[in-house]
Amino acid sequence: MRPTTLLAAALLLPAVLTHAAPTETTITEVAPGVFFRKAQTEPVFTGCNQGFVVFRDFVLVIDANFPGQAENVIASIRERTDKPIRFVFDTHYHGDHADGNQQYVKIGATIVAHERSQPLFETKGADGFEGAKKNRASEYGALSYEVPSLYFSHKLVFDDGAQRVELLFLGHAHTAGDAVAWLPKHGILFTGDACVNGAFNYTGDSDTASWIAALGAMEDLGVKKLCPGHGEMGGADVIARQKRWFLELREAVKAGIARGDGLDEIKKSIDIPFYREWTGLEAKTRTENIEHVFKEMSHPGKPVGQRRPHRHPHPTNG
Ligand SMILES: [Zn+2]
Repeated sequence: MRPTTLLAAALLLPAVLTHAAPTETTITEVAPGVFFRKAQTEPVFTGCNQGFVVFRDFVLVIDANFPGQAENVIASIRERTDKPIRFVFDTHYHGDHADGNQQYVKIGATIVAHERSQPLFETKGADGFEGAKKNRASEYGALSYEVPSLYFSHKLVFDDGAQRVELLFLGHAHTAGDAVAWLPKHGILFTGDACVNGAFNYTGDSDTASWIAALGAMEDLGVKKLCPGHGEMGGADVIARQKRWFLELREAVKAGIARGDGLDEIKKSIDIPFYREWTGLEAKTRTENIEHVFKEMSHPGKPVGQRRPHRHPHPTNG
C-alpha cells in the first residue's frame, strides 16, 4: 500500500516480471453484477482497488478509497445502475481504503467493518484522517471523519437470492481487523490488503505468523478469481505468492538471527529471488517489511501489532 518505492519499481522492471504495478484504472465485470475496479498505482498512486456488487435492490461497495476516488467510483456506479448504494464494506481502517467513507454516508450508505477494526478506526484511523486533511486539503476539504456504524464479529452475509456476499474475518493479517468479501457462487474473493499482488505490503499493523494462517484460510475457500487490495486481479496463485513472501521473509530473517546478524546486516544481505520475479523489486528494498519481521522474530510469541484473535472461524493450513 505504500507508494514510496513504486516509481523506483518502474525503473527496475526485469523482462520476467509477471505482475507489473497497474498504470491505469479499469473496471471489469468479473461476474454478472460483480465489478472489480483496479486502481492505477504507477506513476501516481491513486488509491486502493475496489469492488461493487449490484443486488436486486441496492449496491454494496467494497472499500471506500480516498475521498476523491470515492466520488469517481460513485459516478462509475451511477453509469451502470440507479440502485441506491446502501452499504460500504471497509476491509480495514487504512486511509486509502476508508477515508472516503463520508462520501457514501452523505448519500445514505451504512459503513460496515469487522469489530476488531473499531479501536483502530477510532485512534490511528482518526489521526491519519486529520493528517491527510492538512496534506490533501483540496481533496479532504470540509469532510469529517466517518467511522463504520455496523460492526460484525464473525461473519456477515448479504444474500437476496441473486447475489451472495459473505464478509469473513480470517484472523489478524495486514491489520488486527481485516475482513474479506467472499462470493461463493462465483468463487470471487475481495481481500483488501490482506492479499495484494505486487510490492504493496505494509506490515506496520500486521502479525505475519497469523497473516500466513489467514492466507491459508483464503486458500481453503477455493478461490477462482482473486481481487487484491492493490495490483492486478488474478487467481488463487496470488494468495500463494503473498503467503510465500511472508514464509520466505520470516525464514530469511530467522536464519540471519541464528547466524548472529543484527538488523542492519540482515537488511544488506537478504536475497529472495522469488520476490523479484513476483514484483520486479529486490526483497532488500522492502525495509519496512524486514524491520517488522525482525522485531517479530526477535520476540517470538509476542505479536508486534495487536493481539491475535482467540480462534479462526475457518480451518487454516498455516
Ligand atoms: Zn492497508
